[in-house]
Order: sequence, then structure tokens, then C-alpha cells
Amino acid sequence: MLRIDRLSAWYGEARALREVSLEVGEGEIVTLVGRNGAGKTTLLRCVMGLHAQAEGTVEFLGADVSRLAPHRRARRGLGYVPDDRGIYANLSVEENLLLPPVAGPKPWSLDQVYETFPRLRERRRSPGTRLSGGEQQMLSLARVLRTGARLLLCDEPTEGLSPLIVQQIGGILRDVKDQGVTVLLIEQNVHFAATVADRHYLLAEGRIAESMDNAEVRAREHELLGYLGI
Ligand code: ATP
Repeated sequence: MLRIDRLSAWYGEARALREVSLEVGEGEIVTLVGRNGAGKTTLLRCVMGLHAQAEGTVEFLGADVSRLAPHRRARRGLGYVPDDRGIYANLSVEENLLLPPVAGPKPWSLDQVYETFPRLRERRRSPGTRLSGGEQQMLSLARVLRTGARLLLCDEPTEGLSPLIVQQIGGILRDVKDQGVTVLLIEQNVHFAATVADRHYLLAEGRIAESMDNAEVRAREHELLGYLGI
């Protein structure tokens, strides 16, 4: 579904990604793990077309989208869930859900959103400012699904959340996958990553250092946590 070929990115003279190549198949959940500064956020932003200083190819559903503007990639079904969650604090949950233009090929109805995120139905009249971190994360995911994304690019959705909420987010991601949405997510909690995802890439200093399956991540959990400094 997504094929990245020799993607490089820069911030001025500083190189953040070095010829990264990876693939994500339709229906998979794939994680990107790596130390702070390894280039994970830059990689997701490049896939969405949000980082200008980039070279290489991003192919989505068989078409080269490397030169398309972000909104045109969204129309084809790419959806970016930023780490700052990007919700409108002064609007209610439901207003946030109604706001994004329904651009992509498979938009979710409000009902479909509330089926998958029952907590958001309960909180539909609450303003963004009153939501917990977990509820904000759910709203941020739900907004992108509303736009009709077929591939979610999630920047560390579990960061700063309690273990119970992390589990809930995991359940939601699996549910989203069952509804035909593919997910590429940044995830530093390798234990959680191995329970929610199908495969993993380790990014180190802007390069793909390793590609791992769940069994390997489980077997090397301790070593990986040490490496990531967690
Ligand atoms: P983190 O989890 O800390 O966000 P990351 O793996 O997502 O880490 P990136 O944020 O993609 O890493 O950063 C990759 C490299 O690019 C780092 O060396 C970082 O310092 C640099 N970088 C990121 N954003 C900028 C920026 N706006 N200006 C200059 N350099 C940047």
C-alpha cells in the first residue's frame, strides 16, 4: 500500500533521513521505533508531504505521490495524526468531528466514529479544553478517520498516557484495522508495540537499522528498552 524508496530529508544543511526504504502492506499495523531525534516524525511528515526538503519516492496505492501537496495526498487516503493532536480546544468534540472536510475515499460517518470511540459519544458536548489526554488522542484519531483516510500516519499516540488508556488506544487501533484502515505509527513502548502491531522498523540516525517481527521484539524487549533509553 505504501512504498518508500530511498527517502532523504534535510533541515537546512543537517540531514535527518538517509535513503530510507520501507513498505507497509494493506491492512497492516507497522511501528517505527527509534531514539529521540532518529527521524521518526520527519519520516511521517515526508510521507504526508509536509516536509519540503526531501528527496526520494513515496508511492501510495501504486501511484507516485512524492510531488503532491498534502491536501492531494489526503484526498487519496493518507491521514496524518500529529503528536500535538491538533484539535480545536474551544470547539466541542462533535464540532471538532464535523469540522474537517471529508476529503478521502472512505469517510467515516459520525455514527461509525461513535461506535469505535464510545467515549467520544459520551463527551460529544464537551469542549476540547475539558478532555483528558487520552480523550484528546481519540478525538485526533477520529477526526482523521472522518476525512476518509485509508492509511493513518500516527505520531506516538500513546505518549504520556496511563497504561489503562494505552491499552484502550491499542484496542481502538486494532478495531480501526478491522475496519480496513492501515496504520503506520511511531511507538516507543516496545512492549505495547508488539501487542498491537504486525511488524516493526527500528530507525537509527536517519536510517532503517532493523526490520523486526513481533517475536523478535518480544525476545529483545529488554535490550531495545535499554537502547531507546526508556
Ligand atoms: P522525537 O521523538 O524526539 O521527535 P524523532 O525520531 O521524531 O524524535 P525528528 O523529530 O524527526 O526525530 O528529528 C530528526 C532530526 O532532525 C533530529 O536531529 C532533529 O534535531 C532534527 N530536527 C527536527 N526538527 C527540526 C527543525 N525544525 N529544525 C532543525 N532540525 C530539526
